[in-house]
Amino acid sequence: MPTHPAPTLADIVRARQRIRGLAVETPLVSARRLGERAGVRLFLKAENLQRTGSFKLRGAANKLARLAASPERPRGVVAASSGNHGQAVAYAARAYGLPALVVVPEDAAPAKVAAARDFGAEVEACGRTSRERLARAAAVAEERGWAFVAPYDDVDVIAGQGTAGLEIVDQAQDVDVVLVPLGGGGLASGIATAVRARAPRARLVGVEPEGSNAHFVSRREGRRVELPRTDTIADGLRKLAPGEITHELLQRLLDDVVLVSDDEILEAMRLLALDTKLVAEPSGAVTVAAALKGRGVKANERVVCVVSGGNVDPAVMARAMAL
Ligand SMILES: *Cc1c(COP(=O)(O)O)cnc(C)c1O
Repeated sequence: MPTHPAPTLADIVRARQRIRGLAVETPLVSARRLGERAGVRLFLKAENLQRTGSFKLRGAANKLARLAASPERPRGVVAASSGNHGQAVAYAARAYGLPALVVVPEDAAPAKVAAARDFGAEVEACGRTSRERLARAAAVAEERGWAFVAPYDDVDVIAGQGTAGLEIVDQAQDVDVVLVPLGGGGLASGIATAVRARAPRARLVGVEPEGSNAHFVSRREGRRVELPRTDTIADGLRKLAPGEITHELLQRLLDDVVLVSDDEILEAMRLLALDTKLVAEPSGAVTVAAALKGRGVKANERVVCVVSGGNVDPAVMARAMAL
């Protein structure tokens, strides 16, 4: 029996209407040469070309649109994030006329902090762990009466991410399998809900880094497991445990979870740049890394890899290109 709320297909269809004009419909790119390397027919859902550089805008836009239209419209919004979620909330908040505060770690990458500030958000540094950031964000939300915007464990955020799944089903014919990166699991939960409903024959496979494999372990153990630590170059996929809503949804909706190493991620980034001219960040390249190693896919299948973001640190891109 499900114990958590879950978005429906209808929620995702409404989200698509709601965020039209703020998030763009990203292209589904046919990647022939990469596909030949992998022995499959490969298509890339290019969320690296989404506004703000990642799919996170979809969920943030849906959440903020609902908050802004609600009778209890908050006076502002707070997010705790070192990266793409913070940028997305900052961007969407400006669009809906809500002030935003993004709480970042003291050691956050200056480029990502600058991006949130450029979109008009107030940025505050606090601690180094996500626990410290979350506590600070909750305190500010309480003090100011602002709404806290969760990065993945929220039905409206998941419904927003699911709009990428609706686009995939509209853009691709006869998909055999969709590969999705797993951080907290919001993107995969949304896409899996949409694809299950609209293309029930397609398999859904989640991809995690070996060094941040909380979904893989939780699936194996049949319960939500918390890791002691994470270690991966894919900064958008670092998390100690799956979300509560997302864990329950993904246990049911995913056919498999597969793992990739940091070296395989860097190799996929290099091939994405050279063969398809797409710049992906490490978190966005894990699906292509899996397909290239034949994980989660079978020979000659029609495969969609979600390339979830392109906000890559130049030093990391240089490392990938130097392979
Ligand atoms: C946040 C993020 C992910 C993971 O998404 P979840 O909803 O947390 O699973 C993957 N790729 C990129 C680029 C991200 O920013």
